[in-house]
Amino acid sequence: MDRPRYAIGLDVGGTKIAAGVTDAQGKVITRLAPVLCPGSDQDALLAAVLNVIEELRARHDGVTGITALGVGAAGLVDWPQGRIRTAPNSGFRDMPFRALLQEATGLPTVVDNDANTACWAEFRLGHRAPYMAFITIGTGVGGGIVLADRLFRGSSGIGTEIGHMVVDPYGPERCGCGTVGCLEALASGTALGRYGSAAAASDPDGTLATLAGRAPQVTGETVSAAALQGDSTALAQLERLGHWLGIGIATLVNLFDLELIALGGGVAQVGDPLLKPVRASFEHFVTARSHRDLPDIVPAQLGTDAGWIGAALLALEHHPKGRNQS
Ligand SMILES: [Zn+2]
Repeated sequence: MDRPRYAIGLDVGGTKIAAGVTDAQGKVITRLAPVLCPGSDQDALLAAVLNVIEELRARHDGVTGITALGVGAAGLVDWPQGRIRTAPNSGFRDMPFRALLQEATGLPTVVDNDANTACWAEFRLGHRAPYMAFITIGTGVGGGIVLADRLFRGSSGIGTEIGHMVVDPYGPERCGCGTVGCLEALASGTALGRYGSAAAASDPDGTLATLAGRAPQVTGETVSAAALQGDSTALAQLERLGHWLGIGIATLVNLFDLELIALGGGVAQVGDPLLKPVRASFEHFVTARSHRDLPDIVPAQLGTDAGWIGAALLALEHHPKGRNQS
């Protein structure tokens, strides 16, 4: 019988690094408490990543061998080269991340976009729909797409930037990428906080302003908390978010004939107050509605571990023979 194989998985996001060890079936063997990313300095960030890897190896060497390393990183990542072209919230710029990590650790390594690795975990361990999309709604909007049981990455790896699908080019909202009307500018947790602040400013005695203390302090979390109390102003802001998400999802389904959409990230945790308007908007905007089976639009299943677990799974799939293969 083959020796069991284990991989280290990391999720290097804009603000923190989550990591652990899984086996080839994605079973979590070890999970570290997330550590903060040290600002935007590239060398400091690399050192922090290597520290996390060394800690996990120290825990496992001699007991169960680690045979591969997988990393999901925020930003535009070339596949399979694992070169980070640019990362919006970290210091990585044109950085050969995979090569650096492989050289420093001696482990066969894969580096992919963090939403892709999370999508892969949701596919492998959660929904298993051969044609599905995963959309994460947090500070920004990201996602991944599985087509015929494989991650679709485009020609160089930087595809499926779902958050930068333009849905409202003549609207008022400019995206962090510089374009007007990206889905991320209209349907992220950041956008939800902005909508909530504006609503609270015109209703200073309402639930949103009361929960946050002052209107400018309303965040996406405030809006979700108020919505779960049944506050109609908060529910209206989530409907606004759901409207834009439904348009984005309709376009994805029109293009790829997907059978399932999984919604993850902090904002999606609010559940039905977001899911219901998403489904209504999707059904309004998808083409040939009465001539197709409508896809399920459901909550993601793995929570904040999805990014690093998916990275570990990808590493074991792409390096099935472990250290002897690169
Ligand atoms: Zn954008």
